[in-house]
Amino acid sequence: MNIILLGPPGSGKGTQARRLVVSFGFLQISTGEILREAVISGNELGKKIKSTMDAGGLISDKLVLEVIRDRLEEPDCKRGVVFDGFPRTVAQAEALEDIKRAKGETIDIVIMLDVDDEALITRIEERATRAGVDEARSDDTVEILKHRLQAYRAWTAPIIPFYADRGILERVDGMKDIKEVGRTVNKIVDSFRSN
Ligand code: AMP
Repeated sequence: MNIILLGPPGSGKGTQARRLVVSFGFLQISTGEILREAVISGNELGKKIKSTMDAGGLISDKLVLEVIRDRLEEPDCKRGVVFDGFPRTVAQAEALEDIKRAKGETIDIVIMLDVDDEALITRIEERATRAGVDEARSDDTVEILKHRLQAYRAWTAPIIPFYADRGILERVDGMKDIKEVGRTVNKIVDSFRSN
């Protein structure tokens, strides 16, 4: 099974993806995590992307797709995958469709977490100032969030009609508390699996 979690930065995609891992044993693939690890390790990819990531811009489709193509070759993907933070452009969504089609698979559900802008700013501020500051990310500042939101609106929001047209988009009110959102997300997955 292949699930995509879609939503603006700070909408709770990572949190809900981790809950799906626990509930259903899926594999979470977060391009943000993979790219951050590349930056930390200082490898070739990391050097190319560091400044763009720090500024809250999008990494090129070409680089992200190289990363994703490699990752989807790993055998653990057979467990079923929850994509978190990917795809982020229509070109990435189209490429993912092609990659999956070549394997005889499809994207089954796209879950869109709807959260309003004001709440996003508050969430990011909290994430940036939370105790355990070492967990805070270098792109978790209000200024960079604004840039990430702009990138989301310009590049990622057009994915919503792309998946709506395919009849696989489920919208969830991401303003509810984490557990309630999680229950709704689980119901969507359960009902797909029982059909
Ligand atoms: P995230 O952890 O999903 O918020 O991603 C953090 C940062 O990684 C983003 O602001 C982008 O710079 C980069 N990134 C993650 N996923 C993608 C993607 N699918 N396409 C382009 N850039 C990405």
